[in-house]
Amino acid sequence: MSKIDKIFNSFVSHGLFKDKRVLQSNYLPENIAHRDEQVEAVASILAPSLRGEKISNLFIYGKTGTGKTLSVQHVGGKILEKLKEIEQESVQFVYINCKLKKVADTEYRILAEIIRELGGTIPATGLPTDEVYTRFVDLVDKKKQIIILVLDEIDQAVKKIGDGFIYTLTRLNSELKNAQINIIGISNSLTLMDNLDPRVRSSLGEEELVFSPYNALQLQDILRERAESAFKDGVLEEGAISKCAAYAAREHGDARRALDLLRVAGELAEREQSERVVLKHIDMAKEKIERDKMLDIIEGEPRQFQIVLFSIMRLNEKNKGAEISTGEVYNTYKEICEKTKNEILTQRRVSDIVSEFDMLGIINAPVISKGRQGRTREIKLALPSTIGEKAKEILDKALCL
Ligand code: ADP
Ligand code: MG
Repeated sequence: MSKIDKIFNSFVSHGLFKDKRVLQSNYLPENIAHRDEQVEAVASILAPSLRGEKISNLFIYGKTGTGKTLSVQHVGGKILEKLKEIEQESVQFVYINCKLKKVADTEYRILAEIIRELGGTIPATGLPTDEVYTRFVDLVDKKKQIIILVLDEIDQAVKKIGDGFIYTLTRLNSELKNAQINIIGISNSLTLMDNLDPRVRSSLGEEELVFSPYNALQLQDILRERAESAFKDGVLEEGAISKCAAYAAREHGDARRALDLLRVAGELAEREQSERVVLKHIDMAKEKIERDKMLDIIEGEPRQFQIVLFSIMRLNEKNKGAEISTGEVYNTYKEICEKTKNEILTQRRVSDIVSEFDMLGIINAPVISKGRQGRTREIKLALPSTIGEKAKEILDKALCL
């Protein structure tokens, strides 16, 4: 038997998962634990639409992984089932995730996506925004109907393009003769509402619903149920679930993080050809997830940030881990900019970038007073040694060094 066959076979016969998809974040569980109150509230708010009656706009907020998307999609699915059952066709449920790049970069794109979801067509670019609105109105106003428009991660869209589009969408109802548009805005940011235009706030926030973080015990319930269909019997060591739950609870009660931990732990255990997922694998999973997240940040930073980080990494190597001053960083930064033909920012801007890295935990850079000579920072790289190499690779590639 070839080596590859051996590897493959060990996965086929010793696999620990029964159905790994159950642990992925787009899987829709039938049962939503510890969210009865919220699910019922959403259902009550949407229910009048079944009789063709007006419903309120709804604003939902809560930290990531608190079950917002899941709960709204769940109720949406149930409404569609009910509509079928009573042979009603006058409600449309449209779900848009504003975080997707292709969706929320511009107002045009959001509208185009909504139009496409409603079965209309629209060129990818090129029309004036007014014209897109007109087409939207024409499309929905053809018949008497209620559009329930879910704008998930609406905070992302507001961050990029402001809140004007929400205002326009809520105002459209006065132009519509037959149809009615209702918005469910979902936000991971708890402070979004405070920063909206008061008119947007009052129309979007006709109803508000908070999703608070899960505690460790609630996370255990959620994990246990998913683990039962995801893993083969007896594969999880006693305590594995409570360990995942405890880690995720520490990180603001994020169910997504808890599920990721369990899934990655299972994958690592399989890779080791272990017969069980033991507590050690949860720790390994935690480290891997944190590492991947950090690398994602580094990869996604703008060019200038990458050059600054690269300078710090190079100095770190040169100084063998001793503290680096802001001045040293700036000099190296300038050299690299020249070499890579990038614009050179002011020292002030580079300092700002350094302090952002500090906040992200990529470096430690306390400000040190130097008396009359002002202040500087003593910079130390804080990347775990396991990701240093990989981070360097990413930067080499991004900066074409
Ligand atoms: P949010 O939209 O608040 O960020 P999600 O609804 O996407 O969170 O939930 C994150 C993950 O956790 C998803 O995989 C979801 O299926 C799962 N999840 C969240 N809450 C529950 C719950 N109460 N029961 C089962 N799974 C849950
Ligand atoms: Mg969500």
